[in-house]
Amino acid sequence: MRAVFLKSSRTLELRNIPEPNVPDDGIVIEVKACGICGSDLRRWTEGPPPGSKEVIPGHEAAGIVIETGPSCSDFKIGDLVAIAPDIHCGDCYYCRKELYNLCDNLQFLGVTPGFPGGFTERMALTGEILTNGIVNKMPDGLSFEHAAVSELCNSVLATHEKAGTSENDTVVVIGAGPAGCLHVSVARQQGARVCVLEISRTRRRMVEKFNPDLVLDSSSGDILGRIKEFTGGIGADIVICANPVAQTQRLGVEMVRKGGKVVLFGGLPKANPMITLDSNLIHYGEIQVIGAFSYHPRFHKMALSLLAGGKLPVESLITHTFELEKINEAYDMAASGEALKVIIKIGRQ
Ligand SMILES: [Zn+2]
Ligand SMILES: [Zn+2]
Repeated sequence: MRAVFLKSSRTLELRNIPEPNVPDDGIVIEVKACGICGSDLRRWTEGPPPGSKEVIPGHEAAGIVIETGPSCSDFKIGDLVAIAPDIHCGDCYYCRKELYNLCDNLQFLGVTPGFPGGFTERMALTGEILTNGIVNKMPDGLSFEHAAVSELCNSVLATHEKAGTSENDTVVVIGAGPAGCLHVSVARQQGARVCVLEISRTRRRMVEKFNPDLVLDSSSGDILGRIKEFTGGIGADIVICANPVAQTQRLGVEMVRKGGKVVLFGGLPKANPMITLDSNLIHYGEIQVIGAFSYHPRFHKMALSLLAGGKLPVESLITHTFELEKINEAYDMAASGEALKVIIKIGRQ
């Protein structure tokens, strides 16, 4: 079967490898669709993770069960499943508190050595992955492509639950990549007024489909003044920093109202995570600066059922699909800023 390997920075290789054996307590799936995530792009730029020579990337996968191990009873051949990357350990301090995304020993499909990802024709999922990872049956009527987008939806839904986004809120989303666009849409669905800031003209055009109340060029002058105007002079109730840019987080603290929330949704580059911000704004304004990383596994089921019910704007989100042999073109497109979600379709659909 064919699988994609990340060999070094920006070098992907498609090659033939032996079929995976079905684990005694696990399953083998035929992968049908797998999305390219922002974290895949980061990994692609940096090269394989420390400790491995090469890795099969991809973690936003959906497919069909084609084999089950003798001691696996939760899945049967023919089940359609969607997969997200996190595998928690089940017994650290955080797992015992059911804060699984904060697990001290988190492993990730497509990243951690020994856990190959989804850019392949077939994938073995061990009992550990089925129990402590995130693998759910797809609801009826959901396509593989749409199921693959569930992973992105999970983190966005979890963020809005945490921020408590509601109809009385004014929300500013900074960054209109795939996650930013989805934040706009989910916040609008909660009834909030939403302004989105984005530097790229292409993305400002693309985000319009997600129904924001206002789109601003973040490089234009007096952004803080424009946000004041949009919020009746008060500042935003919630600011979501949905890009990997330090400046954004500083801006977030400056444009949120007193008592408001700034959500750090996008991680900063690992080599340069330090920022300077006006901590007196946080102190005197009682601003809450909130981290948002990954999600509790329950959000995956929630996202799948919202997607199946047509409640998330997935048609506008998926701008490009490619076959597995075009993996390099697909990554180039995903990194170009001209695309939102790029999905790799694998095998017969
Ligand atoms: Zn992802
Ligand atoms: Zn744990």
